[in-house]
Amino acid sequence: MLEIMNLKKSFGGEQVLKGINLSLEKGKVLVVIGPSGSGKTTLLRCMNLLETPTEGSLSVGGLRLDFSPGQKLGRNDVLSIRKRTGMVFQSYNLFPHRTAAENIMEGLITVQKIGKEQARHHALELLQKVGLVDKADAYPFQLSGGQQQRIGIARAVAMDPDLLLFDEPTSALDPELVGEVLKVIKFLASEGRTMVVVTHEMKFAEEVADQVILMDNGVIVEQGTPQQVLRQSTNERTRSFLSRLN
Ligand code: ATP
Repeated sequence: MLEIMNLKKSFGGEQVLKGINLSLEKGKVLVVIGPSGSGKTTLLRCMNLLETPTEGSLSVGGLRLDFSPGQKLGRNDVLSIRKRTGMVFQSYNLFPHRTAAENIMEGLITVQKIGKEQARHHALELLQKVGLVDKADAYPFQLSGGQQQRIGIARAVAMDPDLLLFDEPTSALDPELVGEVLKVIKFLASEGRTMVVVTHEMKFAEEVADQVILMDNGVIVEQGTPQQVLRQSTNERTRSFLSRLN
């Protein structure tokens, strides 16, 4: 479902991804951990071309793109990758003047060209899934951060992408609101969605991941099952990172 080969990304003269290789099968969950500035967000943003990789290749849902320095991406390639991916941001990014249901309906109507009534019906189904059907007509300012994020997730799922990308989905939330968002992500994993999740929540990582990668300074330091990376690692950089979290 996802394959990344020798992916590099530079900003100006600084290389922040230094040759990333990874693959993820359909229905599996990959969790990305690592210290601040290690390149986790940049890697995630490369997966849906919010950033254009400098070198290497990216394949999502059967579409493969190769990158070379200075190359300008075609609009169709960008749109095709975006169609295959759904991103959930740290900061929700909901439209403030649209209700919860309307936020979810937006992409269905404008991108998928679904009629308004059917789009609302689907939005209500998704709100049910994230436990917010009673908030369908509430505006973002009337909702808690956790509720807004659950709507952000429902909006991404609405487009039924091959790959869901979560960029630190709980790090803007008050601690008591983290659980409700993680629960929704776990539910989506149990439904067999393919997902990449950048997170600092280690307990959650352990529960939800099929595969964990630990990044440091633009490279993958370690890759394996949660048990291998989070419990049994003998790698010094991994142990040092994990010990700083405790
Ligand atoms: P955090 O956990 O703090 O979010 P991260 O692991 O997600 O960190 P990135 O946000 O991917 O790290 O950043 C990796 C490096 O790339 C950092 O040194 C950052 O300053 C740099 N960087 C990221 N985006 C840009 C940009 N648009 N322009 C220039 N440098 C950037």
